[in-house]
Amino acid sequence: MAKAKPNSENAHKSAYPKAVDRLVAEFAALPGIGRRSAERLAFHVLKSNQAAALGLAKAITDVKSHVRHCDVCWNLSDATICEICDDTSRDRGLVLVVEQPKDLIALEQTRMFKGIYHVLMGRLSPLDGIGPEELTLEHLVARVNDPARNTGQVPVREVILGLNPTMEGDGTAMFLTEQLRGKVTVSRLARGLPSGSQLEYANKAVLADAILGRKDVE
Ligand SMILES: [Zn+2]
Repeated sequence: MAKAKPNSENAHKSAYPKAVDRLVAEFAALPGIGRRSAERLAFHVLKSNQAAALGLAKAITDVKSHVRHCDVCWNLSDATICEICDDTSRDRGLVLVVEQPKDLIALEQTRMFKGIYHVLMGRLSPLDGIGPEELTLEHLVARVNDPARNTGQVPVREVILGLNPTMEGDGTAMFLTEQLRGKVTVSRLARGLPSGSQLEYANKAVLADAILGRKDVE
């Protein structure tokens, strides 16, 4: 007859009620949040009034249910087409390619760019198993090949590569240049950005210079 095993599923015994434990665990799973900070946040939620706590919960649910990626450029959006793509005053033949939505936001803050974007949702990184299929590369190529796939069905005239000046960013830029060669003018942001730096942390003046001083890729 088999002996019943003791329940050893939870080696770490906690003095908190289960619901508090769960909240702490959720916070601790967030980037940059350690166990101590997670506990502090959980207690903050416990102490706050009902409206504030539910406001936080609702903001999280709304982000997941209402925010999506733009059908054309993959920017974050409340609708099928983002506000930038939807803006008829922008030059829809000029597409600036970035790695992440936060790079797009940094470039938008310069107010220097009047074209539209394409967000790759990352960069090629063979060592981490990130190949072309993991990114939105083929959607970009499709936008270039077929005006019907671009905002307002406008033919793409120039693609500006705005990847981060890192080894992986450079590799991705080379790959894209190959894919787009002979189809469209390909340029890249001027190298005011120090090598290895991140676009999202660059100051506005440097980014504005990088846009204005862009160079055609051979
Ligand atoms: Zn868009």
